[in-house]
Amino acid sequence: MKIEKSPSITKCYSFDATGIVFEPEGVVFAETEKDIIEAVEYCIKNKKNIIPRGAGSGFTAGCVPVKGGIILSLEKMDKILDIDTKNMVAVVEPGVITANLQRSAESFNLYYPPDPSSLEFSTIGGNVAENAGGPKAIKYGVTANYVMGIRAVIGTTEIIDTTRKVKKNVVGYNITPLFVGSEGTLGVISRVLLRLIPLPEERITILSFFKDIYQAGQTVVDIMNSGIVPSAIEIMDIASIECVRRFKNIDIPKSVEGVLIIEIDGKKEEVKKEANIVKKICRNNKATVKVAKDEKERENIWQIRRAISPSLFHIAPTKINEDVCVPVSEIPKALKRFLEIGKKYGVPVVCFGHAGDGNIHVNVMTDEKNSTLMEKAKLAVREIFITTVELGGVLSGEHGIGYTKSKFLPIQTKKADLHLWRRIKKAFDPENIFNPGKMGLI
Ligand SMILES: Cc1cc2nc3c(=O)[nH]c(=O)nc-3n(C[C@H](O)[C@H](O)[C@H](O)COP(=O)(O)OP(=O)(O)OC[C@H]3O[C@@H](n4cnc5c(N)ncnc54)[C@H](O)[C@@H]3O)c2cc1C
Repeated sequence: MKIEKSPSITKCYSFDATGIVFEPEGVVFAETEKDIIEAVEYCIKNKKNIIPRGAGSGFTAGCVPVKGGIILSLEKMDKILDIDTKNMVAVVEPGVITANLQRSAESFNLYYPPDPSSLEFSTIGGNVAENAGGPKAIKYGVTANYVMGIRAVIGTTEIIDTTRKVKKNVVGYNITPLFVGSEGTLGVISRVLLRLIPLPEERITILSFFKDIYQAGQTVVDIMNSGIVPSAIEIMDIASIECVRRFKNIDIPKSVEGVLIIEIDGKKEEVKKEANIVKKICRNNKATVKVAKDEKERENIWQIRRAISPSLFHIAPTKINEDVCVPVSEIPKALKRFLEIGKKYGVPVVCFGHAGDGNIHVNVMTDEKNSTLMEKAKLAVREIFITTVELGGVLSGEHGIGYTKSKFLPIQTKKADLHLWRRIKKAFDPENIFNPGKMGLI
């Protein structure tokens, strides 16, 4: 086993998308499951922490070695081992890039729906460990709904294997879902068995402009109550619209203060009917509605959504990006209260995201070089979490807890739950070497 210790490598593996930096002692690039076992053995023997890492695109410093140790990169284990069309499953190594699996499945007329916006660079291992979701979660669910089995190396160097291509399995404890969202704290996922579904026949993408964000929020509630389940409903508030306008040459009328992107997919005839109902609901809420005529227009609409994240830096140099999730019925109230919190603390708050499932990306914009502003931003973040929990929501809908949200866990999670999490971790990881300091664990 080779441990890379050159600073040119360790520095590159010291951070994720948060920009939080803790330099590892070394980096091991696993190419096979045997390499993973060797790395775990080495860390047990030498009392080192081991931090599994996919693409490092996480938003909670999940793969950052906050308590030191060795990074175990899975990026070279990137083979799609099987697309089994008869059983409609895929077997993949953990380093497979999400979009590569989607493209591969589509070439067999099959569909792997989980679509984090990072899908062109995040890995399946990282998606499983974070239970990643995306716009399509509203209809198709999140990564958890597709993980049928995993192989993983745990902290005794044993291999746990639940990858059976069966639809039903009630043999013993169900270990698979424990690994989903486990954030690298229970072991290293070395293989994943994923469910695939038939590729939808047709999709229609609708762009609707509202005079205010609350009408947009109400439209989401009305659509969800109409019996239609769109494959995506994304919301943008005034601040995100203005950023996108500045960043890209996109035609959004000046009077618009709320945008919804709605996509419907399924059988051709049904999709047409449902799109007409959705357009009517939007218009009842005083929206202007546009429908993508072809794939190019559809892509242009989605580009508006994807442009938000990078364009936010026009507002302020530092972004604290939270991904709270509230019950759908509470979306209008949540949007209103988050924007009020921003005003109260004098820090811009930008809301956008997967409104259809209540997963709102709340971005508190600040400047890390300005300590007064940072303090205000931190207070705003805490109040956003408290408000979310008051509204019956949760601290994270998709990015996980990792390092950054660990301190906020007591707002939502009771001591008894945390104690149980710690005992579960101990069963998988008796030496406490896997990714310590994350998810409220020690
Ligand atoms: C621009 C951008 C957009 C994003 N959009 C979304 C979105 O829409 N939805 C969403 O859910 N997330 C999103 N994310 C966050 C991120 O992409 C996801 O959390 C993703 O699942 C992380 O995958 P990764 O391969 O980069 O994992 P990493 O960041 O490398 O690791 C994340 C966690 O998984 C663990 N881990 C990684 N591989 C393994 C393994 N093989 N075994 C055990 N543990 C492992 C790590 O220890 C760590 O705790 C976005 C990020 C960016 C930068």
